[in-house]
Amino acid sequence: MTVRYETYRCKSILIRHKEVDEDWYWVKYSAHPYVCCAFGCHFCYFRAERYLRDIPCEDFDKVIRVKINAPQMLRKQLPRAEKNVIALGDWQPAEKEFLLSRRMLEVVRDLNFPIHIIERSPLLVRDLDILEEINKETWCCVSYSFSTVDKSITKIFEPKAPAPKKRMEAIREISERGILTGLSFMPILPHITDDETHLEETFAMAKEHGAHYVLCATLTMEGQQRDWVMSVIREHYPELASKYEQLYANDAYVPGQKYHKELDARTRRLLKKYGLSPKIPKPVFEDQRKSQRRIDSY
Ligand code: SF4
Repeated sequence: MTVRYETYRCKSILIRHKEVDEDWYWVKYSAHPYVCCAFGCHFCYFRAERYLRDIPCEDFDKVIRVKINAPQMLRKQLPRAEKNVIALGDWQPAEKEFLLSRRMLEVVRDLNFPIHIIERSPLLVRDLDILEEINKETWCCVSYSFSTVDKSITKIFEPKAPAPKKRMEAIREISERGILTGLSFMPILPHITDDETHLEETFAMAKEHGAHYVLCATLTMEGQQRDWVMSVIREHYPELASKYEQLYANDAYVPGQKYHKELDARTRRLLKKYGLSPKIPKPVFEDQRKSQRRIDSY
């Protein structure tokens, strides 16, 4: 299947979030050079209307919009922003050709901003040289996304994404360079990857490869993305279709409290067993580090 790239000049690149998401990634801003994703994971929340707008859901992994001026726009907008964490870049296949995420990293490094990268592609390790520079001066964190490490399941839900093994190898390389890294274990798929065996398999591999934390969350469903996911469930897990309809009854975005509590208890118990944190420690930026050094020297 061929992927078509449509380039355009964006008018803005830096998105300011209302609040820092302290429970998850600690990000205040985000900046991404590509719209849509050639990996085309079936559960991807970007398939929902509020992200795709006029783009048909079927085109999500076939037509990639490329913000060709993303690095220049970031260099223009970032100096006006208060220093805080940016969720940056995207290392999907387009990045091999356009190198926009790498050039955005250079901007962030030059302006000394902390970053958090949430990624599925091992291509990111190509740019470890810049990540190391950022990490030395301020704060850099990399979360690799997983729904499971079970290949038979990833073949169904994320058939074009890099193999879990490759992602784990990237975690190892990043961890060995002294950069904080872990898993964004999302979405955990109800009744498919949420059982003890699948969770434990993922946590064990994460620990073995140098992950420090695992952020756990279940599948969200919304609009046309819900229809997309349900068609995959009906095709591959017909026996689960009615369970999903119950869990996400009345167009619920997430399953109810009971499911959450049980999943949370299970993941926390297993994370403890493997010595993995369920959260990312609060980032400490350059300015805070300097004042701490001053205190330490007294
Ligand atoms: S790699 Fe991430 S952004 Fe791309 S389709 Fe998969 S879940 Fe969506």
